Amino acid sequence: MVSSKEYMEIEKTYGAHNYHPIPVVISKAKGVWVWDPEGRKYMDMLSSYSAINQGHRHPRILKAMKAQMKRVTLTSRAFHNDRLPMFLKKLTEVAGMDVALPMNTGAEAVETGIKIARRWGYVKKGVPANKAEIIVCTENFHGRTTTIVGFSTDPDANENFGPFTPGFVHIPFDDVEAFRKAITPNTVAFLVEPIQGEAGVKVPKEGYLKKVREICTKNNVLLALDEVQTGFARTGKMFAHQHEGIKPDLLIVGKALGGGVYPVSAALARKDVMEVITPGSHGSTFGGNPLACAVASEALDVLIEENLAENASVLGEHFRSELRAFNHPMIKEVRGMGLLNAIELKPDAGPARPITEAFKANGILAKETHVHTIRFAPPLTITKKEIDWALRVIKKVIAQKLG
Ligand SMILES: *Cc1c(COP(=O)(O)O)cnc(C)c1O
Repeated sequence: MVSSKEYMEIEKTYGAHNYHPIPVVISKAKGVWVWDPEGRKYMDMLSSYSAINQGHRHPRILKAMKAQMKRVTLTSRAFHNDRLPMFLKKLTEVAGMDVALPMNTGAEAVETGIKIARRWGYVKKGVPANKAEIIVCTENFHGRTTTIVGFSTDPDANENFGPFTPGFVHIPFDDVEAFRKAITPNTVAFLVEPIQGEAGVKVPKEGYLKKVREICTKNNVLLALDEVQTGFARTGKMFAHQHEGIKPDLLIVGKALGGGVYPVSAALARKDVMEVITPGSHGSTFGGNPLACAVASEALDVLIEENLAENASVLGEHFRSELRAFNHPMIKEVRGMGLLNAIELKPDAGPARPITEAFKANGILAKETHVHTIRFAPPLTITKKEIDWALRVIKKVIAQKLG
């Protein structure tokens, strides 16, 4: 048998070093649990950056996938297939949006949103050619294409990858006045995450999105929400923007739409916005393929029928209140919404990495984001009993490592 250590060495030899993983090899998974080749068991408290909201290998999703594999898996959009129509209907109903354009990865869906917004700006708003501006936030994370990293403010993500696509303007996150001031006649969209996930689970003040929505409407600017990470029940509602009772003009989704088994993403929009996309102007060979549609349709049904938003809301509240009551002197802040949470350590605590490695040694897989923050985002199928076990381990490890 090949050991975990050997797998990691082979990967290091033959792979590009574009990640710094926790040193664990996962060879089996079910629900919230994963196992390494030596048979050690861990709780997955990252869920592949919220792509596994339905839990690993959900039986219903696997069954739907297997059934579809026996029929047809890929047609391209040169032809119609018999899975895409019902998937589009379901997704738009769940999201409360008029129409959807299916893609594969989150970054592609963001790129799709950027293209729709710009074209809408020229065709519908009357912005002069090549003058469209999209407002984005500092510390954003929207993916890894050259255009997207070009408007990232994280030097790790974009150093030496230029020259970059122009047309993006930065403002601080959670700053309504900065947004108001940044708008010009050429502004076509505000692209923003309802909670900045990669930045360390930064939750804006209550009312932020509501005010942003009002300003967008008043200025004929599209509100483009990137809910790739916050969507699909993660924050305790189907979408994070529903906490504020608003609707975006463009909604970008991915990750958990694929139920943890297959990459599926989409850009959703109002009909009068999406209508600027015409045959030949955008596409994807795999986008909207019947296997993706079968998987994603079932992934949506599982979220709804298993009440995973409700579970995320209740257990998320419990998780944060327990960690706040723990009140450890080295914890600067416990924050989050639903089951998207983070502990930020005080600078004196040193980097979070030794802590995440100690979590691993104690059966919990979580990942640091930036130097001092640890994110906890388990599958939404987690039970009270399982989260209480995790809380005991988290407290024990923090007490052991930080006194
Ligand atoms: C993960 C993520 C993306 C990119 O998704 P990929 O599938 O990795 O391309 C975009 N936006 C947000 C908010 C994300 O969390």
